[in-house]
Amino acid sequence: MCLSVRPYIPNPLCCFKCQHFGHSKTSCRGTLTCARCAEMGHDSSQSTAVEKCVNCKDIHTSFSRNGSAWKLEKEIITTKIKKQISYPEARKLVKTQTPASATSYSSIVKTHVQLYAPITILETFCTVILNLIQLT
Ligand SMILES: [Zn+2]
Ligand SMILES: [Zn+2]
Ligand SMILES: [Zn+2]
Repeated sequence: MCLSVRPYIPNPLCCFKCQHFGHSKTSCRGTLTCARCAEMGHDSSQSTAVEKCVNCKDIHTSFSRNGSAWKLEKEIITTKIKKQISYPEARKLVKTQTPASATSYSSIVKTHVQLYAPITILETFCTVILNLIQLT
């Protein structure tokens, strides 16, 4: 791979109407969805609700670049341009190369919970015992 060649990679195109990637507001066939709270039927300018991303369901606005969906979209575009393949092909390639971040994250959480759950129970148990001692 030649590193001196740096092709221009555009940022993911995010629809201002339905908040999904890959198309613009003008060609949107989706439903008006709030960019702030991911609820349908209102504009983000009218919204004061808690932030929720349409694409990754995380606590950030749908146009946030910190979202895993945004990063994945960027990765797909980068692959598409670098390998000069079609968008669906690039998407497939990225998805097979990188295990879904959401899945790996939840499995980390699971192992974390499994490791620390007994300690938490033990802690609760100790607190109960301590309270009992103090009471008597
Ligand atoms: Zn749209
Ligand atoms: Zn809203
Ligand atoms: Zn997101």
